[in-house]
Amino acid sequence: MMMSEKLHCESCGSEVDNLRRAMVDADYNALNEPVPWDCNRCYEEKRTQRQHKRRGSVSESVPNLR
Ligand SMILES: [Zn+2]
Repeated sequence: MMMSEKLHCESCGSEVDNLRRAMVDADYNALNEPVPWDCNRCYEEKRTQRQHKRRGSVSESVPNLR
């Protein structure tokens, strides 16, 4: 285990106090990919990008239709 008090974002490498994981995105579980630890900024960026990529111009209010 790491002894460092500081956490590092796995996406941008910034030292942050808190890290977040994109656990809310079911795609990660479906693909069995390791979920990276992100700072708040990267977390929000990825979430926004993924929504645009998957939904295109479809409204975000549309639930998962699978
Ligand atoms: Zn980051």
